[in-house]
Amino acid sequence: FDLQNDDFTSLEELGQGNGGSVMKVRHVPTGTIMAKKIVLIDAKPAERKKILLELQIMHDCDSPYIISSYGAYLAEPNICICMEFMDKGSFDGIYKKIGAIDIKVVGKVAVAVLEGLRYLYDVHRINIKPSNILCNSQGDIKLCDFGVSGELVNSIANTFPERIQGATYSVKSDIWSLGITLIELSVGQFPFSDSFSDSEDSDLEHPPPTPPSHRDSLRVPTSPGTTRRNRRRSKGVSLHGGGMTMSIIELMHQIVNEPSPRLPAGKFGDDPEAFITGCLEKDPDARRTPAQLFDYAWIPHSRQNGVDMRAWATTF
Ligand code: ATP
Ligand code: MG
Repeated sequence: FDLQNDDFTSLEELGQGNGGSVMKVRHVPTGTIMAKKIVLIDAKPAERKKILLELQIMHDCDSPYIISSYGAYLAEPNICICMEFMDKGSFDGIYKKIGAIDIKVVGKVAVAVLEGLRYLYDVHRINIKPSNILCNSQGDIKLCDFGVSGELVNSIANTFPERIQGATYSVKSDIWSLGITLIELSVGQFPFSDSFSDSEDSDLEHPPPTPPSHRDSLRVPTSPGTTRRNRRRSKGVSLHGGGMTMSIIELMHQIVNEPSPRLPAGKFGDDPEAFITGCLEKDPDARRTPAQLFDYAWIPHSRQNGVDMRAWATTF
C-alpha cells in the first residue's frame, strides 16, 4: 500500500488514548476498511526516527496474535498508522459493555497474549492492558500498540514493584501486566481501583469508574529506552479528580508493601488462580517467564476449553 491522506474517508472515531485518536476509515483506492491511529509527534528528528522504527517493527510482524499493519505516513504535524480494523473493539470496551468476562474467554486471552509475547520475544515491548487487546467477529484475539502512540509517555508511576524500586524492565514486567489484565477482565474492574475487593459481596457488576489519568499512569510500563520521552511528555497525574481517594504515593506504597492483587479465592477455579499468582510474584526473579507460563495447566486447558470464540463474539 502506498498510503496518503487524500485516499482515506473517515467513518467513525473508535477511541482516544494518551497519544492521539483512532479512526475507522476506508482506504478508497482499495476499498479496505482500516483503523487509523493519528498521533501528534514531536518535531525532533531523533524522536521521529524512533517512532518510525517502532512502526517498522509492527509492519514486519506476521503473527495471528499481533495486529497487522498496512503502513504509516506523515501528515504534519501528525503521524498516521494504518492497521487492521478489529470490528469488536478492545477488551476494555467489551467488559465495560457486557460486564466481567467469562473465565474461559479470559483463558483464551491469556493464550493469545502469551503467544504474542512469545512471537515478540524479549526484543519488543507491547503495552499489555485491556485497551490494547482487540477482538474481531471471527473471534480472533490480537495485541496492538508497540508504544509508538504516546502511550508510554504518561508513566510517572506504574504498577511494577521492581520499577518502583528502581530495577530494569524486562519481559517479566509484561507478565505482571498480563496478570493485572487477566484479573481486570475476570472481575470486571481494575484491581488497583479504590473499591477493588476480592470479597464475595463486592459490587462487581457496577464498579465505580476509575479516572483515566489515574488508570493509565498506573499501568503503563516504562522501558529503559523510553524513559526520557516519558518524563518529558508526561502530563502529570490528577490526584483530585473523579472521586479518587488514593494518592499515587499511597498506591505505590501499596504495590510494594501489600500482597499482590489476586483473583477472588475459589470463584474461578484453581488453574486460573495458580496462573495469575505466577504472573504477580513481586520478585521478578520468582515471577514466571512466558515459557514457564505455557506449562501451567490453565493454558493447554484454555486452548481446548470448548469455547467458540466466533460465537462468543456475536453476543455483544
Ligand atoms: P493508550 O494511548 O495508552 O494506548 P488506548 O489503548 O486506550 O490508550 P489508543 O491506543 O489510542 O488508546 O486506542 C483507542 C481505542 O481505539 C482503543 O481503546 C480501541 O478500542 C480502539 N482501537 C485501537 N486500535 C484499533 C483497531 N485496530 N481496531 C479497532 N479498534 C481499535
Ligand atoms: Mg492502545
